[in-house]
Amino acid sequence: MPEPFRYDAWSGLLAEIVTAEGKVDYARLAERRDVLERVVAGLGAASPESDPARFPAEEDRLAYWLNAYNAFTLHAILAEYPITSVWKTCAGQFFQRRQHVAGGRALSLDDIEHEILRGQFAEPRIHFAINCGSNGCPPMRPAAYEGERLRETLRAAAEQFLAGEWNLRVDHDARRVFISRIFKMYAEDFAGEAGSTEEYRRGVLRFVTQHTGLPLARIADYEVVYNVYDWGLNDAARTPHLGPILFHEPVEHFAEGDTELRELHLYEGNFCNRTCAWCTINGSPEGWYQRYSPAVLDQALATLAPDGNLKFYGGEPTLHAGEVKQAIRYVRERGFRGLVTVFSNGVKAERLIDILESDRRSEAVLNYSIYHGRDAEPLPPHARARLEAWAAEHPGRVFQGYKVLFHAGSGADLPYDRDREAGFHGLGTGCVHVSSLGGRGARSCGARARRVELPDVPPASGRASRAGVRSLTGAHLRSMVERDAGGAVPTEAAEKAGHTADPSNLTRIMPAEGSAT
Ligand code: SF4
Repeated sequence: MPEPFRYDAWSGLLAEIVTAEGKVDYARLAERRDVLERVVAGLGAASPESDPARFPAEEDRLAYWLNAYNAFTLHAILAEYPITSVWKTCAGQFFQRRQHVAGGRALSLDDIEHEILRGQFAEPRIHFAINCGSNGCPPMRPAAYEGERLRETLRAAAEQFLAGEWNLRVDHDARRVFISRIFKMYAEDFAGEAGSTEEYRRGVLRFVTQHTGLPLARIADYEVVYNVYDWGLNDAARTPHLGPILFHEPVEHFAEGDTELRELHLYEGNFCNRTCAWCTINGSPEGWYQRYSPAVLDQALATLAPDGNLKFYGGEPTLHAGEVKQAIRYVRERGFRGLVTVFSNGVKAERLIDILESDRRSEAVLNYSIYHGRDAEPLPPHARARLEAWAAEHPGRVFQGYKVLFHAGSGADLPYDRDREAGFHGLGTGCVHVSSLGGRGARSCGARARRVELPDVPPASGRASRAGVRSLTGAHLRSMVERDAGGAVPTEAAEKAGHTADPSNLTRIMPAEGSAT
């Protein structure tokens, strides 16, 4: 009988470096680097794939992969420490690079998580046992996972995670469940065979009730709100950054079985009070603007799910705050009850707050570079102070920066990276539709694509453009975007599928670094 795989050294190391809060003492880990190297070497020498006899039960195999994921993560972080986030490593591709060996096979963290853990075990509670080195992760366990009684250990981990207020908060007055973004990132793991956003929502609520004791009947019709994920390093030496203005992440999940559009961007033009060099829509005081007409808003209402997310893009919406408020009021009066998002540079803080105060289901997302003054003229201090004070009084209403950008005009020619969450919010997966005037320029990008048609409206007259700008004139202003949560199609494939700039309209729309408000 072969010797079962043992985790004594790994358990001993975890006991030394994991704090009571489940954070990691990386300085201590650096001192014990030799132990971690031995642990990693041991995992490299044998795995359930290379030595199945040493892992007789399914729980033994599962425990190995949970430990391997966590040990390889710490090893990869330590190689670059000090860093502030796993997204800030020198080599990048933290989750994709095959930099570790398990039982003789080179694997990436993504391989272990998606192919092995999620692909082979059908155990959603793994998400409360693996730790990717970020504050949003479950606390690191101060001991190795063992095959014996592993299911009970995982249940306890799920319960402990959900007991944290940042991970789960039920607001019975507002009839909302605020929950960790893990439940959105892996929605299908919690909802079984579900195929639509509504089914995913029910799957999350079911899981919550099974691990908290809350009766399902009590929260069955509650709205699920996914919290922002804190990607800061889970470093015991640093306080998590949870300031008044958090980083923004989209709230919607795009599911295969959805019959309605979940998210819609409205674009009013590129008229702006800034001229950021990296602006993806070429914003400028010389830009153009066209107010939202009833025809556009009616079409938006007819297209978007009544509880979806309507986003006001620019240009700078606060330069026409009255019209934006009017547009929001217009859709509310006609039954839209979802979330309204306004993208703004925040320079006109009072006007932005005025928009937010006009509608209690609204949020604002600030331009990251301008908010931080990084590579951009910063926000005037009084505007920043005003926004931060208001945000502190109204949690979850103002955010800094966002990761999904929409390129139009000159931005259509910029290169872009695959989005890290493409698998669940869809952009970058080759499913972008832009409808334009009279149906011109609508693009389809995949078998699952559904085309969104807009009514014809008169073209905006002779504006837009510095040299080199794709003509936005005649294009105008409303882009309707539909996205598909299907499998991740690499950027190159999207390019080949025909996402080329259409000079007659808003064209390619995609995620990228940079920004536009
Ligand atoms: S990035 Fe935003 S603030 Fe800057 S020019 Fe573009 S629209 Fe204006």
